[in-house]
Amino acid sequence: MIRGTVFIASDICKGCELCIAACPQHSLSLSRQINPKGYKYAELINDECTGCINCALVCPDAAITVYRQAKVKKAV
Ligand code: SF4
Ligand code: SF4
Repeated sequence: MIRGTVFIASDICKGCELCIAACPQHSLSLSRQINPKGYKYAELINDECTGCINCALVCPDAAITVYRQAKVKKAV
């Protein structure tokens, strides 16, 4: 399984929840806190992210950056 993680720029997130609906791993949720704009923001809630980038593709504000772990080569 490819591992991934996301950085969400909480200060520009509008809490539209599109990324939450798009995540096949159910790894995103809305925060309890609000950001400076007055919105709840998306946050990563588990370590099941595969780095599929669905969330980043649907975010209208480009608030999500996805990172994927490089595959480790096995020693021969
Ligand atoms: S990259 Fe994919 S698995 Fe990871 S949080 Fe985004 S939608 Fe979910
Ligand atoms: S799609 Fe973007 S703006 Fe909408 S909740 Fe997710 S991170 Fe925030």
